[in-house]
Amino acid sequence: MGLVKTDEEIALLRENNQLVSRTLAEVAKHIAPGVTGLKLDKIAEQFIRDHGAVPGFLGYNGFPNTLCISINDVVIHGVPSAYELRDGDIVSVDCGTRMKGYVGDSAYTFAVGSVSESVMRLLRATKESLKLGVAQAVEGKRVGDISSAVQRYVESLGYSVVREMVGHGIGTRIHEKPDVPNFGRCGSGKKLIKGMTICVEPMINMGKRDIVQEKDGWTIRTKDRKASAHFEYAVAVGKEQPDVLTTFEYVEEVLKQKGNMI
Ligand code: MG
Ligand code: MG
Repeated sequence: MGLVKTDEEIALLRENNQLVSRTLAEVAKHIAPGVTGLKLDKIAEQFIRDHGAVPGFLGYNGFPNTLCISINDVVIHGVPSAYELRDGDIVSVDCGTRMKGYVGDSAYTFAVGSVSESVMRLLRATKESLKLGVAQAVEGKRVGDISSAVQRYVESLGYSVVREMVGHGIGTRIHEKPDVPNFGRCGSGKKLIKGMTICVEPMINMGKRDIVQEKDGWTIRTKDRKASAHFEYAVAVGKEQPDVLTTFEYVEEVLKQKGNMI
């Protein structure tokens, strides 16, 4: 399959990513001190199956769960565990689906209870950098325009960008070409064409950019143990403007009700 998707393919990717969006909202309802990642994982798996899809990450390269649950200094690929969330934690929930031959992949970082103002600023900045990056997903621009929009914004605030892990194309598989780094130069990289579908997913560190992988073979955390945030949209490159396939609307409706907006 080529990088450019047909309207029918984009519709199926939208369907998957809308289900991911609604799954994240379902998870959001349950995020609170005392809740475990394993419990959130069960809720997500049930919700996905109840809606006619299967979890996209479960079994992917041997991943054992439905969600990646990445807490505090964990950047991505955290494995759900019996750890009970605590007041002041942040938790990135990354979710995938598979339905009708296509996949969904999106992520949101939540605040558990009351989180320090400095970490809240990191969350807001990372989410804003996602929006700035995605705004570049327009025909005629290049991948580097997305990358540099993310990097320039977060580095201007004193944060750092993870280099080793990047966004990606999405289609019948979770990770397709091209790579979509969160750092790079304007005007560099692959030219964007209408109908290309990509995941933009800034992983932004409060401290230094360096990461390490834990012995479990999955968990990626910051080397300096400072907090890291992660937000992800799936998006189709548009002629005039990006066609975002994910929405945070459902999640943010839940957070508003909980009085827990980031
Ligand atoms: Mg993801
Ligand atoms: Mg992804």
